[in-house]
Amino acid sequence: MVTQALAWAALLAARAVHDRLLSTLWIALLGLSLASIWHAVNAWIGRRPGRAVMHAALLLTPVGYGLGFDSYPWRVGWSNAGLAVMLGAIVLACAWPAQGKGRRWRGVVLTGAAVLMAVTLGRGILGAFFTRLYPELRTPHPLNVAAAILQHVALALITMALLAAWHEEATGSLQHLASTDGLTGLLNRRGCMEHAALAVAMARRHREPLAVILLDLDHFKRINDTLGHEAGDKVLQLTAEQLRLCLRQTDLSCRHGGEEFLLVLRHCEQAQAVEIDARLRTLLQRASQAQLGIPVTFSSGLALLQDTDADLEALLRRADAALYAAKQAGRNRLCVNGAAKAAV
Ligand code: GH3
Ligand code: MG
Ligand code: MG
Repeated sequence: MVTQALAWAALLAARAVHDRLLSTLWIALLGLSLASIWHAVNAWIGRRPGRAVMHAALLLTPVGYGLGFDSYPWRVGWSNAGLAVMLGAIVLACAWPAQGKGRRWRGVVLTGAAVLMAVTLGRGILGAFFTRLYPELRTPHPLNVAAAILQHVALALITMALLAAWHEEATGSLQHLASTDGLTGLLNRRGCMEHAALAVAMARRHREPLAVILLDLDHFKRINDTLGHEAGDKVLQLTAEQLRLCLRQTDLSCRHGGEEFLLVLRHCEQAQAVEIDARLRTLLQRASQAQLGIPVTFSSGLALLQDTDADLEALLRRADAALYAAKQAGRNRLCVNGAAKAAV
């Protein structure tokens, strides 16, 4: 925006101050604004082809224009060709595949840049080869008026598309942040409750078994106190890693609170849930022993969805009661709906 504004200010002042110098500056700044857009697209959606062409055009366009300023056909043909090449690079940058980046806004930017490129190229060809027909840029010739309107529409479209893209991206990352735990990358309680309520509703509707396990690391405060808060954080991350290893893609795992995790297991009977719990117990002890020199254990409560559970909250309350029983019974074990089972 700034380079564009400066460019057009230079052109307005050119005749009164120093035509050759300021007109060359005008072309250089226009090129710089296009190169900035190209670099912004690269930074945003990943490496695009055409870097060398873009930089060569950025340099050669004003140089050729300044040197050949005395020949009107040359300078109009050369500068417009150079700017059209840069616009072409922007078109290519938008068209080049970019996974997970909005196709619609890239399509609009591409269209806008293509319109600008066509107008620029047309001007260059007219100026270079049909010089007598070409109305000088500052005259109110119908061709210049039409080109100006097209350029304004294209620029407005590009700006709106970029704003829409930014908005879409910001909304997406806010949504992600609002439902994800920053330390472990697992869902947070809010994110989990949304998904878990849906899982419970689906299990009810299809009359499928569903199990939840609420687990709480044992004596976690002690780990923080003896090894430090950072080691405590590492244990939480390690727990999340082992959870990812144990669970199926359709299962949910979330950081339910400080050192408390919730697993929602779809299509899962009691025996399978007990097995998953045992596997997690072994994996976590092994990994924490290897990486931190201490075997981290947890207590857990298992509850299976029943017809008498009024809602998700009721199911979680039963899992919480089972977890409490596991702590009471001496920790490092799983309790099922209050009935203690020895740990593996
Ligand atoms: P219990 O076996 O009865 O569960 O004992 P505990 O020490 O694990 O339980 P308690 O609830 O007394 O302590 C939990 C500790 O977890 C206290 C809190 O400082 C710590 N904690 C909570 N969130 C974090 C975190 O994000 N990082 C770290 N390092 N510690 C945390
Ligand atoms: Mg604890
Ligand atoms: Mg706790």
